[in-house]
Amino acid sequence: MASAQTIYHGAALADGTGPTLRRPVTIAVRDGFITSISDGDHAEAVAAGATVVDASGATIVPGLVDCHSHLTLQGGAQWIARGADPTPELIDAAERNAAALMAAGVRWVRDVGSPRRADGGDGRERALALGLRDRWRGQAGYPYIRAAGTWLTKAGSLPTGLAVEVGDADGLLAAAVAQLDDGADLVKLYLDGPDQGVAPWSADEVRAVVAAVHARGATVAAHGSGLANCRLAADSAVDTLEHGFAIDDDTARELDANGVTLVSTLSVMHSWLTFGSTTTIERFADEKGRAAIAERLEMAEESVRVAHRAGVAIAAGSDFGGGSVRAGHLAWEVQALVRAGVEPWQALGAATWQGGRVFGDPDAGLIRVGGPAHFMLVHGDPLADPAALWRIWRVV
Ligand SMILES: [Zn+2]
Repeated sequence: MASAQTIYHGAALADGTGPTLRRPVTIAVRDGFITSISDGDHAEAVAAGATVVDASGATIVPGLVDCHSHLTLQGGAQWIARGADPTPELIDAAERNAAALMAAGVRWVRDVGSPRRADGGDGRERALALGLRDRWRGQAGYPYIRAAGTWLTKAGSLPTGLAVEVGDADGLLAAAVAQLDDGADLVKLYLDGPDQGVAPWSADEVRAVVAAVHARGATVAAHGSGLANCRLAADSAVDTLEHGFAIDDDTARELDANGVTLVSTLSVMHSWLTFGSTTTIERFADEKGRAAIAERLEMAEESVRVAHRAGVAIAAGSDFGGGSVRAGHLAWEVQALVRAGVEPWQALGAATWQGGRVFGDPDAGLIRVGGPAHFMLVHGDPLADPAALWRIWRVV
């Protein structure tokens, strides 16, 4: 018996690999895989029994890849307090996050930190996202997950109870290996130390961790916000620098030379700016708070420009949950990259195929014959206006 085929005809296609729309284009799907992509509008050439979707006026975009997320956390203006919520609430939040991600066409999600708790599902104490990843694997209606374990910090860097704290470099290495033993796909190093402006480790110390993690087939994601922390991430050749809010020309050159991808999270500051009018929380709403956020955003945008100019690969992250953004709002990051000066097609690339490279799946964020039919149809041209990514008509 022939399986069902679906034909999407007459659409435009934007995949983040070039600056112009391909149009019209017709894509055929069978059994969840793309069987052909052809130029032209081929509704008439369809085999009997196929479902035909008139996609004229819509743009087909690959499934998105969110490279910086926190599945088990809630986001919002009180995101830090919400991180201490009881485990069942965090699990519920993760289920809602998964549904929101799928509805927004975000199919590949890299979790870069979750609290260490006794899991509601298997009772095992480890990073919560690891149990969710295992239970969701292969289930329809859930995104693909790569999960770090719990943040590894030098003692005193984050509120107690959230991260795995270590005192010295030997402890850091042992903690990284322990995360892999727990089943982590990647290790998250928190490279902001207890002293602002001072790198908590030497590059040699972090390089030893990177070597050990790579030897196990995993990768290292490094949080860095200040210049010293970004510099440490660059010098120690981690796989990704997360946030990277203070990158100078030297650091950008080093990131590029060492093949470190910058995972941008500019939309966090944009969400804080909205809290200036939607909350009465001082750090967002008073004049001093607003000015500080605007200044921080300006610095982060300049860092993106410096990195982009130096040829550093950029992947997009929302930081949903662990920052104030909500799950499924990755389009905001694409808009933020464009506002910072990245071309719209490259910003879309950051949220699709560039993110896919970081995620480590050759199918992630791509539309190709033989690949999985994970794409969405939106209205408008995301290569001219990234806001089109919010106007979702269908998710396939
Ligand atoms: Zn984060």
